[in-house]
Amino acid sequence: MTLPSRLVALATVCSLLWPAAPVASHDLPNLGTVAESALPQAEENRIGRDILRSLRDEGDVIDDAEVVSYLNDLGTTLAATAQAPQLQFNFFAVNDRSINAFALPGGVIGVHSGLLLSAQSEAEVAAVLAHEIAHVTQRHLARMQENQGRSQLWLLAAVLAGALAGARSSNSDATFAAINAGVGLSASQQLAYSRDFEREADRLGMQYLAAAGFDPRAMPAFFQRLQQEQRHNDNNSFGFLRTHPLTGERISESQARAQSYPLKMRANSQDFLLVREKLRIATLGPVDAIAYYRQALAAGRYLDKGAMLFGQARAWLAQGDAAAAGAALPAVQQTLGNHPSVWLLAGDVQRANGQLAAAVQTYQQAMQTWPARRGLRLALIDTLLQAGRAAEARQAIDQALQRYGDDPLLWRLAARSYGEADPLRYHAALGNAFFFEQKFDSARLQYQLASRAKGEDFYLRSAIEARLRELDAQRQSAP
Ligand SMILES: [Zn+2]
Repeated sequence: MTLPSRLVALATVCSLLWPAAPVASHDLPNLGTVAESALPQAEENRIGRDILRSLRDEGDVIDDAEVVSYLNDLGTTLAATAQAPQLQFNFFAVNDRSINAFALPGGVIGVHSGLLLSAQSEAEVAAVLAHEIAHVTQRHLARMQENQGRSQLWLLAAVLAGALAGARSSNSDATFAAINAGVGLSASQQLAYSRDFEREADRLGMQYLAAAGFDPRAMPAFFQRLQQEQRHNDNNSFGFLRTHPLTGERISESQARAQSYPLKMRANSQDFLLVREKLRIATLGPVDAIAYYRQALAAGRYLDKGAMLFGQARAWLAQGDAAAAGAALPAVQQTLGNHPSVWLLAGDVQRANGQLAAAVQTYQQAMQTWPARRGLRLALIDTLLQAGRAAEARQAIDQALQRYGDDPLLWRLAARSYGEADPLRYHAALGNAFFFEQKFDSARLQYQLASRAKGEDFYLRSAIEARLRELDAQRQSAP
C-alpha cells in the first residue's frame, strides 16, 4: 500500500475513533499524570490495537506461534516487575531488518526482527523491551500529545512505530516530511521521545531488567554498540535511535547506573536462540538464510551451533526441501537435545514428507511434556485436518478453546473443521475469529450468515444473537 492510501486508511479508522473536539488540556494537572478524562485507557487500547491490526493486514507482523509465545513470555516477565497490574501488554515481532522497537498506546509493543538479530545476548533484547515497557508504564505517548490535542495520538504512535508505509524503507525522510507537512508536526520535537522521557525509560527499564534476573549492563552495552554501528552505516537501519534519541550522556548515565546493581550472569535461553533463527529465515528469506547458515557453520561464527543447525533445517523446510531438512534432523536433535521446538521441527519435517500420521504422533507425544506450547497444538490440529481426521481435530480444538477462547487462529481452524457441511457452526466460528481480530463488520456478516443457516443448536443460536446485539450496540455508541 502506498503512503497516501495507507494514511487514508488509518485516517478513516481514526476519524471514527476521534470525532469529537478534544477535551481542553490546559486545565489538566501536572505532566506526571495524564487525567483519565483526557485520555481514557480504553481509548488508548483501541488505538494500539488498531495500529497493530493495520500492520498485520499489511503482512508485516510475524505470526509464527513460537515467536509470538517467546516474545510474550519474555515481555510479560519483564512487565510483571513493573507492578502495574492495571496495564495489559501485547508483544509482537515485525518482519523488518532494521533495528527498532516501539510502544504503541495501550501496551502494544513491537520489535523488529533486525533488533533480535543484531542483539548479542538475550539480555540486550530484554533491555530494549524493558525500556519500551517503561515508556508504557509512564504513559509517555499520552503525555507527549497532551499539548497536541487528542486527535494526533494515533498519528504520533503510528509514526513512532513506523506503521506508515515508507517509514521503514529507504525513503523514510520523504515520508516523514509528507506527514509533517500534512499534520503540522515538527519532526525534531514530535517524532521522538524527549530527553527526559528517555532518561526515565532507561532508569525504570533497568529496574525491570534487573528484577527479571537479567544483567543491567546489557542496556548500556547495546546502546553503545548501536551508536557505534550507526556511525558506520546509513541511518535508516537504526530507527530506534531516531525515535529514542541517544546521547553520550545517556549512555554514561546508564553505565553508571548499571554499576550500582550486582553482577548477574544469565545464559541465553534456548528459546531465544531458536526463535532468533526463525526470525532470521523470515527476514532473509529461505534462499539467503541457507547461504547464511552454510557460511556461518563453515567459519564457526555463531552464538550457538545447535541453533545454526536448527535454522538450517528450518530454512530447507521453508524452501520446500523436506529431504534435506529430514537428513539434517538427527544432528539437530543430537545437538539441542529434548526441546519442544526440536519436536515441532521433527513433526513438521514428517508432515512435509507426507507422513501425516507420524507427524500427529510426534506432536501428541511432545504435548504430553509441553501441554502449553501453542505451536505444537496448532500444528497438531492443522495436521489432523489435513489428514481428514476432522472429529479428532475438533476434539483438540474444543480442548484448546477452553483455555484460549479468544484465539482467532483456533476459531479459523474450528471453522475449517466444520466446513460447509455445517454452515451454522462454520459461520459462527468464522464470526468469532473476526470478532477476536476486532474486525467487527466482517464478524457481524458471519454471525448473520450463521443466524440464517439451518441447524439445531439452541445455545449457539442464543450466543450468536447476543453477539449481534452487542455489535449493534457498539455500532450505535460509535461515532
Ligand atoms: Zn525510548
